[in-house]
Amino acid sequence: SISNIKKYYQVGSVVVKALKGVDLKINKNEYVAIMGPSGSGKSTLMNILGCLDTPTDGTYILNGTDVSKLTDDRLAEIRNKEIGFVFQTFNLLPRYTALDNVMLPLIYAGVPKHERIEMAKRALENVGLADRMEHKPNELSGGQRQRVAVARALVNSPSIILADEPTGNLDSKTSVDIMNLFEDIYEQGNTIILVTHEEDIARHARRIIRLLDGMIESDEINPNPTLHQNVVIEEQ
Ligand code: ATP
Ligand code: MG
Repeated sequence: SISNIKKYYQVGSVVVKALKGVDLKINKNEYVAIMGPSGSGKSTLMNILGCLDTPTDGTYILNGTDVSKLTDDRLAEIRNKEIGFVFQTFNLLPRYTALDNVMLPLIYAGVPKHERIEMAKRALENVGLADRMEHKPNELSGGQRQRVAVARALVNSPSIILADEPTGNLDSKTSVDIMNLFEDIYEQGNTIILVTHEEDIARHARRIIRLLDGMIESDEINPNPTLHQNVVIEEQ
């Protein structure tokens, strides 16, 4: 739950008002798409929701805790526990295998090694990559890399999955594959907040929020969400 969130960036003598007073309440097991033109504040909002950054003003209550004025250390602690991130550029570590990449959040969370391996294996199985665990990112297709990123986001059972343009670097068929995966994750009871430029992608969400110039322009229930699409995904 965020109320009257403002985010100002100071660059030299110029102040950029990226968010100008945003109110938003998202409940457990919602599937929300955030849309809006370039520069409207989507990533800024996601960074605040994901506890990567704090607002200049306003409050953010995450699962009953006010996280709007915490120190970086405390914020990192909450982030590691509560949030799973999926980025457009996947952000996988190139020298690490899929399994090692997925285990990373568990290292931060202090999970013992034998449990880490089991949890990471299960997360990779969950995204259909049981046979790719030892592959490094450059030994995987783009869609498979994104599935590793989704597995990494899910591995510590976060309260919220935040995805900023998760299909931005994927072809349309692979995008469908990833959106089907999000649909499954949503149906398993997770909360998903997704930023996208593409109307087709946004239509998978149950609620669509549009930002314009640092403010919410509209916030509507999607009456006709796109459900699981049956396409044959060819495995390499
Ligand atoms: P896009 O669709 O292009 O990713 P966006 O909606 O995600 O755009 P933001 O990245 O949230 O937009 O940026 C909102 C505004 O804040 C922009 O005008 C941008 O230039 C500015 N901005 C974003 N991050 C910073 C920063 N770290 N320092 C200064 N200004 C910033
Ligand atoms: Mg952005």
